Amino acid sequence: MATLDAGKFKIEKRELHVPSLDEVKNVFIDALRENFAEAEIEVVDCPDLTQEPFTLSAPGLGGRVNILEIGGPPFLLPTVQRDKVYDIQSLLKDLKYGDRAFVAGAGAGPWPYLGTNCEMMMNVMMDSAKLKNGTRIASVEKSEGSCVLETLKGNETRFSLLANLFLCEGIPGKVLKVHAKQRIGNKDFIATMQQALAEHYRDKLVGLGGTFVMMEGKAKQHVMPDFSETPLDSVKQLDHWLKFYDMSAPLIAVGTFVSAETELDLRVQHFHSFSHHGEGGHYHIDTTPNDVEYLGYFNLSEVLYRIDQPPNTLQFGKD
Ligand code: ZN
Repeated sequence: MATLDAGKFKIEKRELHVPSLDEVKNVFIDALRENFAEAEIEVVDCPDLTQEPFTLSAPGLGGRVNILEIGGPPFLLPTVQRDKVYDIQSLLKDLKYGDRAFVAGAGAGPWPYLGTNCEMMMNVMMDSAKLKNGTRIASVEKSEGSCVLETLKGNETRFSLLANLFLCEGIPGKVLKVHAKQRIGNKDFIATMQQALAEHYRDKLVGLGGTFVMMEGKAKQHVMPDFSETPLDSVKQLDHWLKFYDMSAPLIAVGTFVSAETELDLRVQHFHSFSHHGEGGHYHIDTTPNDVEYLGYFNLSEVLYRIDQPPNTLQFGKD
């Protein structure tokens, strides 16, 4: 592990263990078949993810694959630290990543942009000066309590407080394709694979990221309302503050998952999803197990960067 002396925030770099995609496929298959009535997994050439149903800002999940974990729940809980605002464009400069970068994942949106706290589904492709910004933010409408989903405008690439981001050059290449239907176990789609990863790679840190579409069914998702004026000191208070919804397919999710928390206090899974029908937020689990169908593409990360790790952690903020 190395500490990078660049930029405004402390950055720790960790080389990840990178097994073959075939090995990971074998690690996941039994777990998927325990949790879903139908499940297939294969190593394929990544399809063009700019197309339906994914509609991402880059065609592939390949080229210099990294995971970035920035900040964390302690910057939100029990009271918010409003100065925790980041910009992916300046972070990429700190990392000396290069001119071509695709970033997709889950985090808290840029509160100064909207004037309120919000969820973020990052989905941005940067190629030299050109920026294709498909990042969505979801917020809670103040009078009705409904979910409001919008696309960030122009070159707005800031976010706040915490994020789990998948970073690559967005080019085609081999990926894991995972298809699962009809949930028969208790785990959500990502937890099924994350827990298999954790059980298999006990002393090694392995990380993946990418995207999945929940093609059928409904999902429990939350959206954070504006920052709480009273401190949130317990899971009960946090759950009461968060706004939960039953959102409809198709939902397009982006995020990352890793095999272990380690001393970097990593969030082991974090996916947010957006849609083309006005819904989006933090994915928990489908609520229609009989009808649910998932299709996902994932790639293994080579390097993980832990950026601005909070000095103290609160376990209850992990969800
Ligand atoms: Zn979230």
